[in-house]
Amino acid sequence: MNTSFTPKETYARISDISIDYLKNDLDIKGLIFDLDGTLRINKVVSVDTMNFIKNAKNTGFKISILSNNPHVSNTILRTLNITTSKEFACKPLKKPFLNMAKRMKLNPNRIAVIGNSRLSDIWGANRAGMYSIYIQNFNSYFFKRKIENSLKNIGIKQIKD
Ligand SMILES: [Mg+2]
Repeated sequence: MNTSFTPKETYARISDISIDYLKNDLDIKGLIFDLDGTLRINKVVSVDTMNFIKNAKNTGFKISILSNNPHVSNTILRTLNITTSKEFACKPLKKPFLNMAKRMKLNPNRIAVIGNSRLSDIWGANRAGMYSIYIQNFNSYFFKRKIENSLKNIGIKQIKD
């Protein structure tokens, strides 16, 4: 298996990540978040995610958003109180990750990238020399579609939320 697609950690939710472990064991000082399917799922930011961001900030982490989505709204930045963001980031290119590290005034190896795409987030982060955390998001629209299609193939028509 190509290890550059392999995350260092995998979780179902952002709130499962241990801030304490990142800070004290790995000496991580900054977090770069993906937006769609990571910070917000089906356009909604969960209360757990908001609390995680709040705790991470109180712990002293610098936090930013790096998204391929051209429309990172001010509302979401205000909601999460995040000031550093880059839209249209062209992930998985290494450059947007390294540029963001510069903006955060941190070495890439002091940054953890948190995202739901092995291609754009994990591959990009690993190549940029950052710590990669994969959010395997079972609630996302696409994941649900995938499951529904597999169920259809075995004769089950619909799954309920
Ligand atoms: Mg995403």
